[in-house]
Amino acid sequence: MEFIDLKSQYQRLQARIDARIKTVLAHGQFILGPEVRELEQQLAEYCGVRHAIGVANGTDALQLALMALEVGPGDAVLTTAFSFFATAEVIPLVGARPIFVDVQEDSFNLDPAALEQAITVHDATRQGKLKAVIAVDLFGLPADYPRLEAICKKHNLHLIEDAAQSFGGAIGTRKAGSFGDISTTSFFPAKPLGCYGDGGAVFTNSDELATALKSLRVHGKGTDKYDNVRIGLNSRLDTLQAAILLEKLPVLDEERERKQEFLERYNESLQGAFALPRIPDGYVSAIAQYTLRVESGQRSALQNRLRNVGVPTQIYYHRALHRQPALQAYAHKAHCPVSDRLSEQVLSLPIHAYMTNHEQDNVIEALLGRFP
Ligand SMILES: *Cc1c(COP(=O)(O)O)cnc(C)c1O
Repeated sequence: MEFIDLKSQYQRLQARIDARIKTVLAHGQFILGPEVRELEQQLAEYCGVRHAIGVANGTDALQLALMALEVGPGDAVLTTAFSFFATAEVIPLVGARPIFVDVQEDSFNLDPAALEQAITVHDATRQGKLKAVIAVDLFGLPADYPRLEAICKKHNLHLIEDAAQSFGGAIGTRKAGSFGDISTTSFFPAKPLGCYGDGGAVFTNSDELATALKSLRVHGKGTDKYDNVRIGLNSRLDTLQAAILLEKLPVLDEERERKQEFLERYNESLQGAFALPRIPDGYVSAIAQYTLRVESGQRSALQNRLRNVGVPTQIYYHRALHRQPALQAYAHKAHCPVSDRLSEQVLSLPIHAYMTNHEQDNVIEALLGRFP
């Protein structure tokens, strides 16, 4: 059993993907070729935003977002304590200070009440001027943007949506990728929309920010690559990766719906035995992971038992961000008990669109201790 199955998807799309790759090899425009523009148009349309800009990966996408919003030395950025390292890593990378805010236990996402509290107690003389918030749509579920957007507006803060795990998710009719001033995503192979290498994108409705982002991804170019008006990065989405994504995007919604069925089957079967993920009314999760909570102290025994019967599981994440060694300079004031507890309790189960009901039954039986 695979934790995330990329081979079955490739087998299904092989003829179309191979043809797309051959087209790129024939025209030879490997950097910012026509497929990149075609994909950017389709991504923007899919998310319902004015601009989608293909970049090298989801981490650069976040860094470029901060650079476009001119976040730098002397600034502070509020973000979740429970995410992949990259979410926080980019903040010191641009010279700013990360401030960690706790999450909600049932959504794993930034807690709007804790965010308000952190803004209220913030000491600008010691910690820098509050400039922005980076919210994450963890495991595919969009954060509470109605409340986060209101808070950011009230306090005059930029809002960045880290949609690396949530491409295909939504709140009502608003898609992940459309929240905040800038949204970012990743096309790392195992993400909901993954390519065959590294890739990412940045989304915005602002023409001005889009112009800055397109410049920043090509060495801060002005009228051309040899006219440099900003300090930027070399961070473009490869044409080959764009070509692959053009064939994967049309099946994304159907794959998500299949995963939704598996999510509901897990929830029905495991009810009462574990704390299960809940999708709030009106929210659509991209279901990057199916993550439940096991009582503290029991997780590694359960994980071993599952491994022994051939069921792979993963722990996202073993350590909250304010516990990461590289972030200790910014962590002494962090108080994030929910994130700490989650790091001891979370367990992610196999879920992907090409899993069979039989495979899922094996996972369920093993979890409930009825295996073999
Ligand atoms: C994967 C991920 C990133 C980074 O994306 P890469 O393409 O691997 O650089 C950033 N944030 C979150 C929440 C992620 O899951």
